[in-house]
Amino acid sequence: MTLGNMREQGVRGLAVFCLNHACLHRTVINVDEYPAEIEVPSFGRRMKCSKCGGRRVDVRPNWRERAQSVDWRGRSAWEM
Ligand SMILES: [Zn+2]
Repeated sequence: MTLGNMREQGVRGLAVFCLNHACLHRTVINVDEYPAEIEVPSFGRRMKCSKCGGRRVDVRPNWRERAQSVDWRGRSAWEM
């Protein structure tokens, strides 16, 4: 999935999770300034956790944003 695909579905942010079990930091980043052709997983390879400094992070579209901004149909997508 690319940022363009994600925006078509009404999501403009990425949810980032730290995979360090001692940390489990979670944050949402805004990616408005990045081009549409960038693949979502490529962010995971570039980022590191701001809390523990770990490089094992999971990145996915912030579907929760869609559930809030669109309507009830978005709810079924908010499963992880
Ligand atoms: Zn962390």
